[in-house]
Parts: sequence; C-alpha cells; structure tokens
Amino acid sequence: MRFAIKAAQAVRSLARRSVAVIALSAALSMAALPSSALTFIRDAEIERTLKLLTAEIFKSAGLGENAVTLYIVQDPSFNAFVAGGANIFLFTGLLDQVKTPEGLISVIAHETGHITGNHLARRKIVSENLAGPAMIASILAASAAAVAGSGGAAVGAYSLGQSTATRALLAYSRGEEASADQAALTFMEKAGVDPSGMLEVLNIVRGQEFFSTQSQDPYLRTHPLSSERYSFVADRVAQSPAKGEQVSDDLRYWHDRMRAKLEAFIDPPSLVLQRVDDQDGEIATLKRAVAYHRLPDRAKSMAEVDRLLALRPDDPFYLELAGQFMLEVGRAQDAAVKYGAALNLAPNETLIAAGYGKALLATGEPGKEKEALRVLERAAAGDPADTGVRQTLAQAYAADGQPAMASLVTAERYALSGSMEEAERFARRALPSLLEGGPAWLRAQDILRVSEAAKKDK
Ligand SMILES: [Zn+2]
Repeated sequence: MRFAIKAAQAVRSLARRSVAVIALSAALSMAALPSSALTFIRDAEIERTLKLLTAEIFKSAGLGENAVTLYIVQDPSFNAFVAGGANIFLFTGLLDQVKTPEGLISVIAHETGHITGNHLARRKIVSENLAGPAMIASILAASAAAVAGSGGAAVGAYSLGQSTATRALLAYSRGEEASADQAALTFMEKAGVDPSGMLEVLNIVRGQEFFSTQSQDPYLRTHPLSSERYSFVADRVAQSPAKGEQVSDDLRYWHDRMRAKLEAFIDPPSLVLQRVDDQDGEIATLKRAVAYHRLPDRAKSMAEVDRLLALRPDDPFYLELAGQFMLEVGRAQDAAVKYGAALNLAPNETLIAAGYGKALLATGEPGKEKEALRVLERAAAGDPADTGVRQTLAQAYAADGQPAMASLVTAERYALSGSMEEAERFARRALPSLLEGGPAWLRAQDILRVSEAAKKDK
C-alpha cells in the first residue's frame, strides 16, 4: 500500500494553477478539513476490491465499467462526495465506520445517483472540465499514445474561474438527496444487493442533526438527512424485493480484508496489535503482519506474512505485501522474486508491476534495468494518473542511459502533481535530445502547452 501524498504546497500551487484542483481544494475546505495535506491511498488490492463491490452498481446505473473513478482519501472524517464529474472520493473514516459491504455499496450507489442525476451540472458547473488530476492524466495518456492536439481540453479547463469551482460542493438540496436515494435503491435492487445497507449508513450519521453544523460529519452537511428522508428510505427498504439478499462470501471476504489493511496501515501499530491480541484467523494475521512491519519488527512481520502465504500461496496481493516489506527493509532481490510471482498471477495490476520494477532497479544488478524499464513503461501506460510509477520509471531511464526520457517522465510526474514550473523545466531539458515530431517530443510539447495555459490562468 502506498500513500500518495499531495503536500499542502502542491495543493496550494495546484489551486492557483488549475481549476480542476481548485474544485478539489474547494471541496475539501467546504468539508472543513484541515487544509494542511491531502493524501490519496493507492493499493492494488483495495482498488480491485472496490471494483468488485461496485461493478454491478455501475452497470445498473448504465455506466461503463471505467466511467467512474474512485479515490481513497486518507482522512478520519466520515465523508464521501462527487467532484469533477464522475469522480467519487471516499474517506478512510467512512470506509472504517461502515462495517458491511452493503453499507459501503449504498454510499457509492448514492453518490452514483448524484452523478447520473447530473446534480453537479445543475449548479452550472461544466463538470467534465473539472476532472481533477485525472484530467491532466488523461491528456498525458492521450499524448503517450501519440495523439497530437489533445491539450485543448486542458486549456479550456484552465480558463474557468474560481467562483465556478467553489459552487461545486455546496450541499445538495432535499430534492436532490431524495432523487439520489431513489436512484441508489434502484441500483442496489437491480444489482441484487440488500438495500438495508443504506439504513446502516443513515443510522451512523443520524442524530447529528441536533449537533451544531461545525461538529457534524462533513457528509451530513453535504448530504442533509431529514426525518422525511430517513423514513422514505426505511419504508422502501422494508418493501424491497432485495431485502435479505446476501452478497457473495467472496465479496464479504475482500471487504473485510480491505478494512483490515486500511486499519493496519493507518492506525498506530501498537494499538492495532493490542486490538488483535487475542484473535486468530487470517484477518488478525494480516493486521499483525502490517503492524509489526510498521513498528518495525522485521522478524515478527515476516513470520506473519509467511502465515498468510501458507494460507493463500497464490494470492498476488499477499505476495505483493511480502515484496513491499522486503523492499522496504533492503532485501531487493527477495522482493523482486515475490513481486515477480505476484505479477505472474495478476499481470494487469499496474501497481504490482510498478513495485516489481522498483525492486528490480533496487537490486542494482547489471541488465536488470532493461527488464525494469519494460515493466515500468507498461505500468505507467496502464495508470496514467500515478506519480509513483513515473518516479521509478525516470530512475530506470537514467539507469539505462536515457537521460532525455528520464527528464520527460519527470516532467509528466510534476505535471500530474500540479508543479507546472518544474514540469516545464524538465520538459525543456528533455526536448533537444528528443526526435522532433516523434511520440516523446509530442509528449514534451503537451507539457509545455499545459504549463503555458496554467501561466495565463494565474
Ligand atoms: Zn447525497
């Protein structure tokens, strides 16, 4: 698991330059979060679990498999919201407090209801122009595929004013809440998911209506809960044909694992260990493995990881976890073996590929950089928004004696994290050595175009 930290400075500089991220920071300030830092969590296993949980909901909503992007924000608040079109932001506080897959599915179904109901667009937000870092990412992806002229969308986005963006995250109206609830209940019924999950969530936020606005969960402020809303949902749940439907054991298992992994990576290790002190079983073992690693207690951590792998020897995510831990304690060769095995089992997991490439490079063995480069290029193409893989890819290019490509990828990484001045500097450094008109040259030109547009917006 990786914490992709957007430092306060990056967020602020993004906020100055890109309306996309103004929307994001506005959203966060509306939610009264500390403005110091915004941390997204990237994790192959958790992202796959969320895909499993939501696939049927998005299908029922008539949305394509990849039409909606889910972001996990590391923040203890109970919160979820839509921003920038079809992006759903889920806070770890919510993922922790909603204890059933049905509950979490209901939250995502409700946010999906806001998307399909076009509730943000009604606020006169040009939603597709507010696609956040993903927007820049898609431009980079397009240019990586050597499609020229794809900078146009970005230029349009930058010319929007801040006032437009700040309206994006106002509280929904009662009518919009009712419509999102109705849509969510319909999606859940179509998908065969017990809608009682929605009551679980409403019960968590219920009662806070009596608190002052300041002490309410941010979720309650943007998604107001009236007694009418509550009784509507309760009535509909009571009559629902899907009431009592069980999600598959498999789904429940992955949901448990997701919550365990988040808890173990976020909460203080000593506290996690205390909680699982008298527990056996796979979930407790997983928590112990992560907590010991973070203490750090290498021997105990690896013993727990070995237990997990004995239970599930072909689990790519346990192999990945083993690889991550080994790499973090400097056992690069062992890490590369584990990551390699994980990638064999899950060849399309770009975050695992990125870890494998990183481990290969860390071995420092001659010739390994070629293999690393091959794997990392594929991972970067498959995950156009990821800055971490680009950092490692740049190292691989440098190790392979391709400094211009290292500069280009570094420029893209800065562009993705909103540091447009740095992005421009590295793009200019790369350009003279790139073949004019070639794919890499076009990618550098795209960076310059986006950075020029950002300057005009200032
Ligand atoms: Zn809502």
